[in-house]
Amino acid sequence: MSQDCIFCRIIEGKIPCAKVYDQGGVFAFLDIAPVNKGHALVVPKKHYATLFDLPPDLGRELLEALRRVGRGVMAATGAAGLNLGMNNFEAAGQLVHHAHFHLIPRHAGDGLSLWTQHAYESGEEMQKLAQAVRSAIV
Ligand code: AMP
Ligand code: ZN
Repeated sequence: MSQDCIFCRIIEGKIPCAKVYDQGGVFAFLDIAPVNKGHALVVPKKHYATLFDLPPDLGRELLEALRRVGRGVMAATGAAGLNLGMNNFEAAGQLVHHAHFHLIPRHAGDGLSLWTQHAYESGEEMQKLAQAVRSAIV
């Protein structure tokens, strides 16, 4: 628990939220500024800053929550699709430093474009980077 963390305070009930899920070590509520209505945030109840701080043991519960809340969001909003997203560190747009997963309901033709993609300069550049990533995985 972190006193100055807005999500810790929401989980403790000190700040109101639109709660949708509370099971075991996982909590979920609607994002106050939704990309599309029904946009939900799935969060561990304990304070961890990013993906890299989450204990792997929590993975099963988190995946179950993402699947159950995701299905609920889709059913309640009539969505045809769902994006799962997570911002880690400020360079990636993380504003709240309590690890959280975004579940965003999607509708055909809703016009949302999540990111633009680019090309590698060559297949060699791509393969060299893949090798560097393989070597960096510990
Ligand atoms: P991120 O940029 O991934 O850190 O996302 C933080 C998200 O938290 C944003 O989408 C905000 O709209 C959302 N948010 C911030 N404060 C609240 C709040 N009090 N209740 C619900 N969602 C919030
Ligand atoms: Zn927190």
